[in-house]
Amino acid sequence: MSPPVISRKMFDMAGPLLSVVNLTQHFDARTKGLFGSRAKIHAVDDVSFEISPGETLSIVGESGCGKSTIARAILRLTKITSGQIVLDGVRIDDASVGALRPKRRRMQVVFQDPFSSLNPRMKVGQILAEPIRNFGLAKDRKDMKARILRLLDAVKLPAGAADRLPHEFSGGQRQRIGIARALATEPDLIICDEAVSALDVSVKAQIVNLLQDLQAEFGLALLFISHDLAIVEHLTHRVAVMYLGKIVEIGPKASIFQGAQHPYTQALLSAVPVPDPEAPRQRRILKGDVPSPLNPPSGCRFHTRCPVAIDRCKAEIPELLPSGSGHYVACHLAPQNGSQSLRQN
Ligand code: SF4
Repeated sequence: MSPPVISRKMFDMAGPLLSVVNLTQHFDARTKGLFGSRAKIHAVDDVSFEISPGETLSIVGESGCGKSTIARAILRLTKITSGQIVLDGVRIDDASVGALRPKRRRMQVVFQDPFSSLNPRMKVGQILAEPIRNFGLAKDRKDMKARILRLLDAVKLPAGAADRLPHEFSGGQRQRIGIARALATEPDLIICDEAVSALDVSVKAQIVNLLQDLQAEFGLALLFISHDLAIVEHLTHRVAVMYLGKIVEIGPKASIFQGAQHPYTQALLSAVPVPDPEAPRQRRILKGDVPSPLNPPSGCRFHTRCPVAIDRCKAEIPELLPSGSGHYVACHLAPQNGSQSLRQN
């Protein structure tokens, strides 16, 4: 079943809320050894995507593929190497601190480990009051208190939680506090960076359901970063699959989960547990490890592990080309239905 979309009309009429255009993020590094030389980590290379208001886009891929680097770049926690990040028509990657401030209010994050991101010495009420105060959202003390109570109610925590410290809560409850804090600034976009990965299966499902309820209530767009494809299938509208710093496939949920065309996406999906263990399925196990982003393979970065690679794959980088409605694939062997590339120059 597809997650609810807040307002189809809004989707059709509004432009993208967030556009990431040809984003590249390299980091300086030193190779190992006494006389290690300078090198570049190719964390993200030439990545483009958009998120509409009220939409969930999930970025999936193995650890180290660059998905969290994208989140940090959007949040301006790193200085990007090149490309553009545009929020509601305004570039934010090169915005001054002053110009960025109102945009920051509209874009919040929920991290994997709520405990390390919550000040252990602050009561939950103080934690929630901080962003409200920082952005001057409350008219007075009474309004502040009402806002805090509304936030706790929104994440299904009792009003009494405001007077308790983070360590008094379970992992799932702490993640609810993290979500309430993200909601405090009335954002349009929440970036969930592996936000449910550390939780038990049943708690994970509760938090995912909560995110969907909040999306429906507040019209939030979600950028959901995860390696858990089963969770992603439950909550997303679209999926972007990353491998070694590049998007290799992106499209609507149904066309990715039922019609994946990139060999890497197919391998990832073949490892997703299915409810019926007797159901026939062919697990595709990839050979070797993910190569180092210090020295990514030439041509298609996946060629060293791809079961159907051809000579061309070692020499030529495959472009992300349309392969169906809203579905793009970066593979020389993918059937294409047009010549227009997703890449924006
Ligand atoms: Fe495999 Fe070549 Fe396609 Fe890359 S371009 S996924 S190596 S077939």
